[in-house]
Amino acid sequence: MLCIYTNFALISLFSLSPENYLWFDSFIIVLQTINCRYDNLQKYDLPFPEAVFDLSFYRYNPQPFVSLARELWPGTSGIKPTLSHSFISLLEAKGVLLRNYTQNIDGLEVLAGVSPEKMVECHGHFRTAGCVDCKTPYDGDLCKKKILGGTLPLCGNCGGLVKPDIVFFGESLPTRFGRMIQSDLREADMLIVMGTSLKVAPVSLIPEIVDEDVPRLLFNRDLVGDFCQTRDNLLRDVWESGDCDVTVKKFCDLLGWTDDLMKINQQE
Ligand SMILES: [Zn+2]
Repeated sequence: MLCIYTNFALISLFSLSPENYLWFDSFIIVLQTINCRYDNLQKYDLPFPEAVFDLSFYRYNPQPFVSLARELWPGTSGIKPTLSHSFISLLEAKGVLLRNYTQNIDGLEVLAGVSPEKMVECHGHFRTAGCVDCKTPYDGDLCKKKILGGTLPLCGNCGGLVKPDIVFFGESLPTRFGRMIQSDLREADMLIVMGTSLKVAPVSLIPEIVDEDVPRLLFNRDLVGDFCQTRDNLLRDVWESGDCDVTVKKFCDLLGWTDDLMKINQQE
């Protein structure tokens, strides 16, 4: 049984017959679980753990990042998409995913089958690469091959260091968030927030700036942001406390989507 803080959104959603529930046809998903491993960096003798993602430090000593990237590279590191990632892919397959905003850099949504155009990866991703000096794009597959082989990719234009297009400290965020968010907010008629502390802007701002008549679902261990904090929010918010994978399974059970969810998850 779902834990319902206010019964508005879920009751409305689930009391409709299957052919009608898709009136929520423009979901925005916010998913920003941080999966980075900071626990085995001692061997690199870093001045501080975040130095591995620091642009100045990368220019000074790129080897720690190259070594870490070999462990983290999406699809090769043993880190696989979860049911929650498959759920986002399922929403796209059902034609109801407007956009997935995330600050993850692990690219697991795309590995789960979500189209890159449905993604706004605010801190970048590993699929493309470029020179840290002259910014010339570098072939993403070649960058992957070099880094997994333990060698440094170098720019064909200026000889500078190349890295995947994930955002390092000292770099500005991709402009895609700013280009997409306003029109997405106009179109969205439901917001699902999963697996987040809602502490890091700009993604953390989305629940606050989405239209006040948009129902908001929170699949999360903790109550975060301003969910269920005001009388108006209590009328539109639903919080299901617990593990996201368990919750999306329950959600799909209620919608009769479980077989479809499992099919997507098994394909990964
Ligand atoms: Zn260059």
